[in-house]
Amino acid sequence: MDDLNQATRELHQAWETREAARAWLAAFEAALASGDAQCLAALFHTESHWRDVLAFTWHMTPVAGAEAIAARLLAEQPRTQAHGFVLPEGRRAPRRAMRLGSECIEALYEFATALGRGAGIFRLSPTEDGTMKAWLLSTTLQSLNGHEERVGPNRPSGSAYSRNFGGDNWVDARRRAIAYDDRDPTVLVVGGAQAGLAVAARLNQLGIDTLVVEKWPRIGDSWRKRYHSLALHNSIHINHLPYMPFPPSWPTYIPKDMLGNWFEFYADAMEINCWTDTELASAEWDATAQRWQVRLKRGDGTERVLRPRHIVCANGVSSYPKVPDLPGLGDFGGEVIHSEGFDSGAGWAGKRALILGTGSSANDIALDLHSFGVHTTMIQRGSTTVVSINPSARLNEAVWNEPGSLEDADLVVASAPPPLVLRNYRAVVKRMMELDREMVEGLKRIGFKHDIGEDETGHQMKYMRRGGGYNLDAGSSELLIKGEIGLLQFDRIERFVAEGALLKDGSVVPADLLLLATGYYPQQELVRRAMGEAIAERVGPVWGIGPDGELNNMYKRTPQQGLWFIAGGLAQCRINSKYLALQIKAMELGQLGPLGS
Ligand SMILES: Cc1cc2nc3c(=O)[nH]c(=O)nc-3n(C[C@H](O)[C@H](O)[C@H](O)COP(=O)(O)OP(=O)(O)OC[C@H]3O[C@@H](n4cnc5c(N)ncnc54)[C@H](O)[C@@H]3O)c2cc1C
Repeated sequence: MDDLNQATRELHQAWETREAARAWLAAFEAALASGDAQCLAALFHTESHWRDVLAFTWHMTPVAGAEAIAARLLAEQPRTQAHGFVLPEGRRAPRRAMRLGSECIEALYEFATALGRGAGIFRLSPTEDGTMKAWLLSTTLQSLNGHEERVGPNRPSGSAYSRNFGGDNWVDARRRAIAYDDRDPTVLVVGGAQAGLAVAARLNQLGIDTLVVEKWPRIGDSWRKRYHSLALHNSIHINHLPYMPFPPSWPTYIPKDMLGNWFEFYADAMEINCWTDTELASAEWDATAQRWQVRLKRGDGTERVLRPRHIVCANGVSSYPKVPDLPGLGDFGGEVIHSEGFDSGAGWAGKRALILGTGSSANDIALDLHSFGVHTTMIQRGSTTVVSINPSARLNEAVWNEPGSLEDADLVVASAPPPLVLRNYRAVVKRMMELDREMVEGLKRIGFKHDIGEDETGHQMKYMRRGGGYNLDAGSSELLIKGEIGLLQFDRIERFVAEGALLKDGSVVPADLLLLATGYYPQQELVRRAMGEAIAERVGPVWGIGPDGELNNMYKRTPQQGLWFIAGGLAQCRINSKYLALQIKAMELGQLGPLGS
């Protein structure tokens, strides 16, 4: 009987939650249609946030405050014509959720615009008099009318090559598509790792002719060539590429070669046109033809010139290794290797290694060297955020652990406007510091400089702001604390000498190997080198946080027509590749002009 009562109560609560969400959404639609700013603003708490992803503004636009939200929504509505707001069946149902430390009703909804279909999230909480108001709204464009992705019920019939007796079969068609003997691709994607493959797969489903060029001989080499012991730092369920989830039999933390092989398989299965062993050498924008003139260097020494309308830079943050200017480096008698070129500690057993850097790669390499019996010392230059892979880093995976599909969880993640992202990270970091207290205190005891970010937002914002400065700890911290891996502060070093590092106190830390885990130049280095200073200048910073709190130039139109950027973790690439591909499609359809048009 008790169970029955409980079930009845739960059903009633679910009904109430749904009713509250439905009532708010109906009021929102009516207010939007009426054009009454006051009425619309009254549906939001004074402190509230809206993030639009393409649906209303064709940009990634955060707006804060009830009145500002209402004003902007109404300014965009005549062009957008958003209507038909519903709580869809078969997706995340409206639910009570804990967000940013307080309970709210969170609902996923869908709507239509003049151009396509949209989806979003809103979160409601009661005012003092019990009225439900929103403190978060997101609106995202999901598809363009008449140009829906060619998946599921829209899948191609295959009639062009299936049972085509006497004509081309599928392999012939694929060979012809990949050769580009008789045409130019509409989009050239530079880089065939997770960012490039994700966006190419999305563009394929929208019918955009796309070629991926990858400088390594095989797709997946970007992971295969990383150090021997590497496994991913995030657990598997947040790392899927679009359309094809990893097999359910795979391990929680995917080893690098397994991932590399999957990338190769994925490119083949998703029918992505790839040229490997091919590097973007130069690109010039032809404003008259509205196309790029691109020079590609192929591994066999030949060159090809192509004229795509768009270039998507998916060249990653590890194209050009950064080697700092170190005093006396030329005098060092041992071997100097950048982390990019490090494979395994196997050949260094019994030797002494200095690792310059205390980020994730430095720490993983230290673990690898130590495991092969290398006497290893890490040199710390700047303060570092250290977070345990498990349990702490997993706190950031919480949304993906909730019931519901990956797509719905991705929508929740895409809904977060920058101020709420910061607040969320601050709250998560507090919890992380409790979980990792012992490790962090141990590190501080041995003189390790530790921080949790300039505004206590931890490693996630360090990643967004500068792409490094943190370690997701896989076990090296314990070895540092126990003294099994040594720690040396960089400011104690006078200079490098033939035998190792000469310290300011006159002593020498001897070394046979100096491993530089000193990071890479950012993505715009490719722009500078291949497209020239003028375009690099016009585009400005790529990655890092811009004045509106969003990532600079990522996944959206840039000041250079036909130039796009994508990068980041697998989840970021999966989520944002969709929006990037939609913008290119809209441009090709003439529905979207260049930035500022
Ligand atoms: C130890 C470790 C663990 C990690 N764990 C995770 C994790 O769990 N989840 C996660 O999401 N991320 C993880 N990452 C981060 C991940 O490596 C990066 O986010 C990822 O590599 C970025 O992918 P990308 O496609 O943007 O760039 P990259 O992987 O750097 O790929 C860029 C590609 O572009 C090619 N390229 C560059 N320039 C040119 C050119 N001129 N012409 C042609 N091709 C070019 C390169 O060869 C390369 O293949 C981890 C990283 C490390 C080091």
